[in-house]
Amino acid sequence: MTKLDTQLIQGSNRTDDANTGAIVPPLYFSTAFRHPGLGESTGYDYSRVTTPTRALLEDQLAAIEGGSHAFAVSSGMAAIDLVFGTFTKTGDSIIASDDLYGGTFRYFDTRRDRYNIPYRTWNGQNVADLVALLTPTTKLIWLESPSNPTMKIIDIQAVATAVHAVRPDVLIAVDNTFLTPVYQRPLTLGADVVVHSATKYLGGHNDLLAGAVVVQNAALAAQLAAQLTTTGQTLAPFDAWLLLRSLKTLAVRMRTHTANAQYLAAKLTALPGVAKLLYAGVGGMISFYLATGYSVDAFLRGLRVCSFAESLGSVETLVTVPTVQTHHDMPEKQRLALGITPQLIRVSVGLEDQDDLLADLTQAIAGAKA
Ligand SMILES: *Cc1c(COP(=O)(O)O)cnc(C)c1O
Repeated sequence: MTKLDTQLIQGSNRTDDANTGAIVPPLYFSTAFRHPGLGESTGYDYSRVTTPTRALLEDQLAAIEGGSHAFAVSSGMAAIDLVFGTFTKTGDSIIASDDLYGGTFRYFDTRRDRYNIPYRTWNGQNVADLVALLTPTTKLIWLESPSNPTMKIIDIQAVATAVHAVRPDVLIAVDNTFLTPVYQRPLTLGADVVVHSATKYLGGHNDLLAGAVVVQNAALAAQLAAQLTTTGQTLAPFDAWLLLRSLKTLAVRMRTHTANAQYLAAKLTALPGVAKLLYAGVGGMISFYLATGYSVDAFLRGLRVCSFAESLGSVETLVTVPTVQTHHDMPEKQRLALGITPQLIRVSVGLEDQDDLLADLTQAIAGAKA
């Protein structure tokens, strides 16, 4: 099989059916497709159902995640909604790891309150505890690893093995936004569904909102396809093309994100203004607690290279305060139990020079001392 780096760069090429020899894939905007005659089709009819540029992207997403089918949608939340809309109905229940993207919890709350699909949480550590939470109504298990923002690691393979041994019908879905297929391929570890906010690392440039769902099972794919045709939250052709282009550099970007994050993690821990630092050891996301006596507001205002902004996974370094941004909607008690305190800072380490990043964070932290 083609290695991942080659697949990312070449996977969507050589697809120009007009034989121009174009190195990069063409972009088709057409929403309608002419039929040769009654009962005949080129394979394309109407773009909500399928369209050539999005189809290329979907093939590429399936290939890099080790899946058979992928669906490119308009945002990460649209991807989450596609999975829930397809696989859950009133009366079902779900189990989720306890430290998730804040918007995912907000989504789960609306499903619980409006559609009577309750959820229970698991702390991501002891798999036997998770198995004990299974009930006859459990339909789906939702995992994020490493977790957001406290960087807990879940053993996806152990979860899949233990759960499928007793309940092969329960679907295991993994939000793979943080590590991407460069570092983690949940479908190869036994998960049933992979979800991405492609707005983050897959897109990687802070200029594209997109999401993806990947499976390796034709029956699940047929259900997802039917749901997506019904609800229509598809990714537009230009955005699909832009995401294909972004994917070409995914592997190199991820390696540099990791190198920069490892460097910063090692250096920042030593600063007196940093009480504790959390890093999974791979990928570009680090979190740290600013020590007591250091002002979060002064730290943010002092940043010159890094930006205080709410997103992650791009070439630019972004600094987020989960308490007031990503996890604002979570009840305070739950936030604090997870370690999401007002002093917790999350850094999406970008691809700038690592010493420039270190100097910027160091001076901003020093300047935040009361
Ligand atoms: C951002 C994010 C989402 C939501 O994706 P959008 O593209 O913003 O809709 C879901 N999961 C994770 C882990 C995220 O970081």
